[in-house]
Amino acid sequence: MSMADPDLARIVSDIAEEMSARTDRGQVATYIPELANVDPARFGMALIDLDGHTHVGGDADMPFSIQSISKVFTLTLALGRVGDRLWRKVGREPSGNPFNSIVQLEREMGVPRNPFINAGAIAVTDVILSGRQPRETLGEILRFLQFVAEDETIFIDQEVAASEKRTGFRNAALANYMKSFGVLENPVDFTLGVYFHHCAIAMSCRQLARAGLFLANNGRNPVNGHSVISAERARRINALMLTCGHYDGSGEFAYRVGLPGKSGVGGGILAVAPGLASVAVWAPGLDEAGNSHLGRIALEELARRTGWSIFGH
Ligand code: GLN
Repeated sequence: MSMADPDLARIVSDIAEEMSARTDRGQVATYIPELANVDPARFGMALIDLDGHTHVGGDADMPFSIQSISKVFTLTLALGRVGDRLWRKVGREPSGNPFNSIVQLEREMGVPRNPFINAGAIAVTDVILSGRQPRETLGEILRFLQFVAEDETIFIDQEVAASEKRTGFRNAALANYMKSFGVLENPVDFTLGVYFHHCAIAMSCRQLARAGLFLANNGRNPVNGHSVISAERARRINALMLTCGHYDGSGEFAYRVGLPGKSGVGGGILAVAPGLASVAVWAPGLDEAGNSHLGRIALEELARRTGWSIFGH
């Protein structure tokens, strides 16, 4: 991708202003009170380029529940732990089904389609947990996020985690079902506990954009020079984000935005413009597939105004 030298500061602040004024906002997630009570009028955006220049708009510094966006970072850790052996336990194909679908798991003998649907992310969490205690594993995940974001204030929202656990019957069903096929190695309660807690990590758009910067720069943080993962692995994580990062809305996201992205039911999306920038948006209202409605529109506008796309200009 080439840099057309767009006025990024202007583009980000214009988009944030336009999104804040819109009335079509989608529906906030209602399965736990902590998400149901978030103000749907919030909108935040942060973009960091490879020189570390940061452009923000709206509520870019307000922490929100990153939910499934955490799955990008747990996938990174699991690949670091076991490498390609991970792919014995989880596939790499888009699911074409809702993120918490049970039916597909039965048809495919307990091996989830990809690491970003709930079943796949639970299997990935189980891999990181093996040989460790849940508390240690959770500490490792949190510290990894703090490291890549260069920000030690990132925290786990314990109330969100407790609510997830209290209402997580479907995730428990997915986990037990995988356990029956031997896909999970650890006690189901332990794996689910770590999963619920990493989904409950709270971050702002600014922190999240910084955390994703290594994916935009071949696995290396361009600002401090830290190598996080190999270029090959970064490329592959980006591929999975593009094909599977928005569940049953992944095709639409690729069509409209044209960048790898990962959404969460808290309304956040992390998008990666390889060679250019890392972008995080947050708008709590969701579309039918469980992806941020205005978050997607904001990224579509960003792609249109910058000409950024992995598919050409
Ligand atoms: N914690 C949520 C769940 O397991 C994550 C789902 C999501 O963000 N899509 O249901």
